[in-house]
Amino acid sequence: MKEAVIEARDITKQYQELAALDHVDITVRRGDIYGLIGDNGAGKSTFLKVMAGQIFPTGGYVRLFGSEDEKTVQKNRSRMGALVENAGFFPKMSVEKNLEYFRIQRGIPGKAKVESALRTVNLWEKRKVKCGKLSMGMKQRFGLALALLGEPELLLLDEPINGLDPGGIIEMRTLLMKLNQEKRITIILSSHILAELEQIATVYGFLSHGVLLEEISAKELHEKCSDFIDLRFSEPDKYAAILETEIPGTAYQVLQDGTVRIINPGQEPDRYGSLAFAHGIGVKGMDAHHMSLEDYYVEVRKRGKL
Ligand code: ATP
Repeated sequence: MKEAVIEARDITKQYQELAALDHVDITVRRGDIYGLIGDNGAGKSTFLKVMAGQIFPTGGYVRLFGSEDEKTVQKNRSRMGALVENAGFFPKMSVEKNLEYFRIQRGIPGKAKVESALRTVNLWEKRKVKCGKLSMGMKQRFGLALALLGEPELLLLDEPINGLDPGGIIEMRTLLMKLNQEKRITIILSSHILAELEQIATVYGFLSHGVLLEEISAKELHEKCSDFIDLRFSEPDKYAAILETEIPGTAYQVLQDGTVRIINPGQEPDRYGSLAFAHGIGVKGMDAHHMSLEDYYVEVRKRGKL
């Protein structure tokens, strides 16, 4: 199994009566793109801020790159880059000068890092433009350049695609995948645009009201989110018997309400319906499903009764 870069254990963050994080365990492994999912107020930003060292947890601890002793964790934070709040910048100063200012302020050696970060996020051509004049998508990429200045192994990004138009979303997605695949940067990002997250994340963590409901890899999720066809009959057992003889090897379940669920169907949906007709069984209804990340999220929330 790949080495863990973040092991958050039993993390709690209490704001008076409110537990913004409630005994959260999260593991991010090297090479992962970890998608943190949750509704507004679920605790995503709070978790990322605790990891970035911007706020202290009330309880629990974090092991970062294998160390949990506070001094080493603090030192290891130089190996991460974070974009957790909107990137601050001087609107009247150019993109390049802004980055140079933050490089010096953070004590990151090497002037060339500014050019390298700007080239990585495709903003080198815009280096002379004043930051205040950048489009929303460019501002997000500028924020990413800031996070990349210290050449991190790990990136923490809070809602990096929030507020972007479709073009901006595609650009950001391509960029994050490139950083992950070519520069081998591990990423943890939050989002509530699930369809988007589904395209890049390799692991998901579902947070709700400060509680981590589930952590699941994209592979496991894919297996759980299999396609299925639901057929409703008055005589489900008779249909099941026919199914076993006529299309042997079909994986199916008979649900409590008499629905026959065909899992990962190997045939077109109509074939299952016509099989019933051919044997004189009336079909009351038929639906084909593919469970998306969004459907799964709805189920996880129901399980958490939240
Ligand atoms: P969003 O998607 O809206 O950004 P989130 O999942 O990032 O939501 P958080 O910002 O982490 O959620 O907030 C979690 C909870 O903690 C919310 O109820 C929020 O109001 C509360 N909270 C966050 N920061 C503070 C603070 N400084 N003082 C008091 N409560 C806070």
